[in-house]
Amino acid sequence: MSGPAASAGSAAAPLAFTGTVAVIGLGHMGGPMAANLAAAGVDVIGFDLVDSAVSVARAAGIRIAASGEAAVTQADVVITMLPAGRHVLAAYEGGLLAAARPGTLFIDCSTIAVDDARAAAALAVAAGHRALDAPVSGGVVGAEKGTLAFMVGGEAADVAQALPLLEIMGGRIVHCGASGLGQAAKVCNNMILGVSMLAVSEAFVLGESLGLDHQALFDVAANASGQCWALTTNCPVPGPVPTSPANRDYLPGFAGALMAKDLGLAVDAIESAGVHAEAGRLAAAVFARFAEGEGAHRDFSAIIDDIRMRGAGQSPAPAPPTPDAGATP
Ligand code: NAD
Repeated sequence: MSGPAASAGSAAAPLAFTGTVAVIGLGHMGGPMAANLAAAGVDVIGFDLVDSAVSVARAAGIRIAASGEAAVTQADVVITMLPAGRHVLAAYEGGLLAAARPGTLFIDCSTIAVDDARAAAALAVAAGHRALDAPVSGGVVGAEKGTLAFMVGGEAADVAQALPLLEIMGGRIVHCGASGLGQAAKVCNNMILGVSMLAVSEAFVLGESLGLDHQALFDVAANASGQCWALTTNCPVPGPVPTSPANRDYLPGFAGALMAKDLGLAVDAIESAGVHAEAGRLAAAVFARFAEGEGAHRDFSAIIDDIRMRGAGQSPAPAPPTPDAGATP
């Protein structure tokens, strides 16, 4: 693969991968990603702290190790798919880096803060290994179908070694630059998404109050300067885009909890970089409040209901105790 912003499509044909891959974190995303690697003939050894995740992975043909350390000692490449930055750093420092053979390639696919990604990569390098950050978009469906988009940060030679594996698990792979820049690309993209969904939703509610028909506003904005993914693919009102979550009572899709998490990471990056980003901060605050209630488990486009209710002086309902989040775009 060539330099920053090059995609897999423009790269020379990668060498086939012949080693062993350890996958640490076999949850909603890591489980199907590991299963796709195994189904493609890669030797995969996995580990998760939770028995149910282990059982599903074992049934998918993945060898299961007794611990994370036991998994990585056998591996040439280690993929982590963990909930948050603190889990990645704790796993790296808590034994994975020490147990791995020298020169092992660590690929963290979790969505974590840019600073945490850089810290994790620095720890790996200091321990004699190599490291990439490779967060994904595409959600659980993308993980299952092997169509994830990977945003990769790290050395080009390490990206080249990872490419055959990433191509099994994903469709589009973009090398975004040095360590941490995969996470940077993800956080910037999702900040655009959060801000644009808020703008689209507020515009529909304003249009409603002015007597403007949803379809009429859509027909104008979708063909004018208001055009964006939040409008033309994930339209927050039912009707204009029949496949959008608004047509199925906002079943995710991309759950509000995940948008709130990603915008929280955007604010971390804004503060760390000292950038003046008022809209990003505002979107983060709005979606954080949304995810405190039932919005956590609804598609993030249900923010439009929250806007309507607040305009009518009502409070949104509190969150029901549903644990599963949906898929990220
Ligand atoms: P998940 O909670 O389903 O899976 C995480 C797994 O990590 C759990 O099974 C947990 O037991 C395991 N784990 C935690 N600490 C561990 C350790 N030390 N050793 C071994 N296993 C450990 O979460 P998920 O939905 O799979 O998401 C994983 C990551 O992917 C998150 O960073 C998330 O933000 C990101 N992501 C998720 C989606 C989505 O749609 N779910 C989409 C894009 C990105």
